[in-house]
Amino acid sequence: MLYLSTRGHPDRKHFCDILLEGLAPDGGLYLPEHYPQIDDAALTRLRSAYHQQGYAELAFQILSLYIDDIPAADLRALCEKTYTAEVFGTGEIVPLRHLEDGLWLEALSNGPTLAFKDMAMQLLGNLFEYELGRRGEELNILGATSGDTGSAAEYAMKGKKGVRVFMTSPHGRMSAFQQAQMFSLQDENIHNLAIEGVFDDCQDIVKAVSNDLPFKRKYKIGTVNSINWARLLAQVVYYFAGYVQATESNDQKVSFTVPSGNFGNVCAGHVARMMGLPIDKLVVATNENDVLDEFFRTGVYRVRGSADTHETSSPSMDISKASNFERFVFDLLGRDGARTQALFGDALALQGRFDLSGDPAFQQAANRYGFESGKSTHADRLATIKDTYSRYGVTIDTHTADGVKVAREHRGDGGTPMIVLETALPIKFAETIQEALGHAPDRPARFTGIESLPKRVQVMPADVQLVKAYIERHCQ
Ligand SMILES: *Cc1c(COP(=O)(O)O)cnc(C)c1O
Repeated sequence: MLYLSTRGHPDRKHFCDILLEGLAPDGGLYLPEHYPQIDDAALTRLRSAYHQQGYAELAFQILSLYIDDIPAADLRALCEKTYTAEVFGTGEIVPLRHLEDGLWLEALSNGPTLAFKDMAMQLLGNLFEYELGRRGEELNILGATSGDTGSAAEYAMKGKKGVRVFMTSPHGRMSAFQQAQMFSLQDENIHNLAIEGVFDDCQDIVKAVSNDLPFKRKYKIGTVNSINWARLLAQVVYYFAGYVQATESNDQKVSFTVPSGNFGNVCAGHVARMMGLPIDKLVVATNENDVLDEFFRTGVYRVRGSADTHETSSPSMDISKASNFERFVFDLLGRDGARTQALFGDALALQGRFDLSGDPAFQQAANRYGFESGKSTHADRLATIKDTYSRYGVTIDTHTADGVKVAREHRGDGGTPMIVLETALPIKFAETIQEALGHAPDRPARFTGIESLPKRVQVMPADVQLVKAYIERHCQ
């Protein structure tokens, strides 16, 4: 299997080459040359792989369709090391929980940092360690986080050979729980840099360092952001796991509703569907930052300015643009790299928007690819959390609540199961749960008292030179 860029660059690459890379050289995103097809017999094999051998075997079978430059025995070992009951809390890894007629939650948030990002990041940590070891290379991951991504990356990379993490975050702006999660890590290869500024200052620093090519090369700076194909591929697996749990035979379909910001999670659903998984609808649920909902309603994709980007109570979906969306649009346009370049490289850079409303491709987003969308607000979130708790005794997090709210509006007549992806546990967003329910959510036992553990963090001004100097000092 070879990978190509969404913007038409002629190069083709193997999996392990794009694993350690960010964007393609032309600024595009990597996708496989084609999607391997799962026919009826293959789906039956995957069904029994999950039920009889477990999630790790299902992951191995799907990943091996896309990865031909890691020997099968090694890839299987990496999957088995990653998807264990010890790390993810249950043997099923992603159990379904029945909520109401035709509506299910798929639990993706029982990993080390209690958000679905662990599903992919834990695998990425093991893949990085494996590939860097094989090459005899090192990598210094520099990132910016407002919460979930940073902690998922640190828990995946801690103690891994050949990898260091330098994670910037806005000083004093993450929740006490999120700060405690990250700053209590004592591993030597993890560096928390609390920047005196806001999240945008952190992102600007990361960009400035990455744009300094000599520095980037000398210190082997890399990223783990959501455009990494390996993260997306890891996420494809749990769409299959959800499907085989919700159905008994391959002639049944299911729909998924996915709380979305960067279009990363739901893009994996699109890939699963392109492989032939019988998905009826893929419903995109946004919060007040409704870039994606606007596109699926109107055909207009419009990047927001920072003044237009709202701080909400589902903060992990507070985005101004959807960085993975280009992958889907590339498929929507019949994989036309020149047109994708014209939209994402040119139109967005010049006008901050493009309009596909008059294009037949836009109709296909709904008709051929099954996409629908909806939006949820703070008031919806509170009402949904309250309602779900009082009717079913289940506490859901704020992002999942956006999903449940939108799922109910798109469920249809109930014949097709609707699976909502649970993207975080409520303890991560305790303040809003308190506001909705009048009491705090449960805290998993292993997080008791983490706020009082010793913290390992360096506070520093929002100054690129100081961050570079810190990296230099800690790369010896
Ligand atoms: C990252 C995140 C999301 C959004 O995921 P995308 O891949 O950007 O669509 C939703 N919920 C939670 C809790 C997250 O951490």
